[in-house]
Amino acid sequence: MAPFQTFIGLEIHIHLLTKTKVFCSCRSAFGDPPNTNVCPVCLGYPGVLPAVNREALKMAYMVGTALNCDLSMHTVFERKNYFYPDMPKNYQISQFSDPVGRGGWFEFETGGKIKRISFHDIHLEEDAGKMIHDGSRTLLDYNRAGTSLLEIVTNPDFSSGEEAEDFLQAFRRLVRYLGVCDGNMEEGSLRCDANISINRQGKGLGTKVEIKNLNSSRFVRKAMAYEYRRQAKTLKLGGAIVQETRLWNEEKQKTQNMRTKEAAHDYRYFPEPDLPPFCPDEGFLMGVAEAVPELPFFRKQRFGRQYGLTAELADFIADEKFRADFFEVCVDEGADPAETAKWLKGEVAKQLARREADLEGSFLSSFRMAELMKLLGSGRIHANIGRQVLELVLDEDMDPVRLIEREEFAGSDDREALGPVVDQVLSNNREAVLQVRDGSQKALGFLMGQVLKTAGQQADPKLVRRILLDACHEESPARKD
Ligand SMILES: [Zn+2]
Repeated sequence: MAPFQTFIGLEIHIHLLTKTKVFCSCRSAFGDPPNTNVCPVCLGYPGVLPAVNREALKMAYMVGTALNCDLSMHTVFERKNYFYPDMPKNYQISQFSDPVGRGGWFEFETGGKIKRISFHDIHLEEDAGKMIHDGSRTLLDYNRAGTSLLEIVTNPDFSSGEEAEDFLQAFRRLVRYLGVCDGNMEEGSLRCDANISINRQGKGLGTKVEIKNLNSSRFVRKAMAYEYRRQAKTLKLGGAIVQETRLWNEEKQKTQNMRTKEAAHDYRYFPEPDLPPFCPDEGFLMGVAEAVPELPFFRKQRFGRQYGLTAELADFIADEKFRADFFEVCVDEGADPAETAKWLKGEVAKQLARREADLEGSFLSSFRMAELMKLLGSGRIHANIGRQVLELVLDEDMDPVRLIEREEFAGSDDREALGPVVDQVLSNNREAVLQVRDGSQKALGFLMGQVLKTAGQQADPKLVRRILLDACHEESPARKD
């Protein structure tokens, strides 16, 4: 057992996919020209009135439902007072005394086991603008100021960086499933800060150190491993851990001091006088419940149970809601579940990657996929043809059955069609036939090559091999076996 026990908690911010900002009607979008999505409300002019975005509230309650939180029936907005140049109001509208959700739990897979972690709270707030440091100048872009942000605070339930990383990936999958966040950590729509404390086994929480600048779930794992080593070394030497905020430096692969906390912040929270408390009515709560789909963790388990998918295939299929829905439509249409999953993870993924395309928006509809799988399942075409048909579907926006008719694929692989070709090849290569009879794989390979060259791409190598073997042995009345 390690001498020290690790306690890690995460603070996650997600940008909600609302069309407009959380307290005004400015467009909420990433990558627009600087300061084009601004108005007096999000620029903090005096005397303006904020109004809360119902869509943002709905998404916040959806996340709260998915995380099993106690949802507030009387949620309050408060002003969190502090000064920073990217926040022109000098306060942030946030939640403190009565947030959207408290408590709650979430289960995810890590290290081959299922781990359950719990939450402190989730609350809705507005984001700040963005500062861009340009040489000796600092530029300010307020497009992001006032966009909807949901903060999810976990309890310090993670005992390693690996667990925190696995959780973040499962959480990212969840919010994408819910359609409330695109989960893009590079663009900052999912951001994460971590806190870590270590202590001798059984002694409870140690001194908390906060780590910022974790722009990927991988960074979280690496930063936590680094901090464990750093803090353990200090404790072993009899030193004390300083309560501080540190930054992860990916280039140097280490954390560095950012600021030491002298005292707890006093943000002087007080109720936002311009926003009434939000008390969800029955209609709102029903809309929330209806909008929460079967969650990926449970869907993956069901795919294993119901369709007999391996854990790996179930994981791949359940990873994205669109893909999982697509798969289930194929199965409803009569496609074999395991084969469909294999094709989606293998050939379909490969061909889409080659085109830098996504399944969503490609010409491969679930009905076409089901049709292709049924053609394969019935033996009307074999895998080689299937791959070519898939290429054509993706490029030409046509149904597999029509493509097969057009390309005259079907039937060309049967024994009858191959017979004359095989006869010709055998009579031209007597030496090789004798070698095959003696068990030479090399000679068999050579003959297969000759047949495939003549018969063309649509011949099934497996079938050619079988016909060749039969033919080579049949020819000899003195076959030795
Ligand atoms: Zn605005």
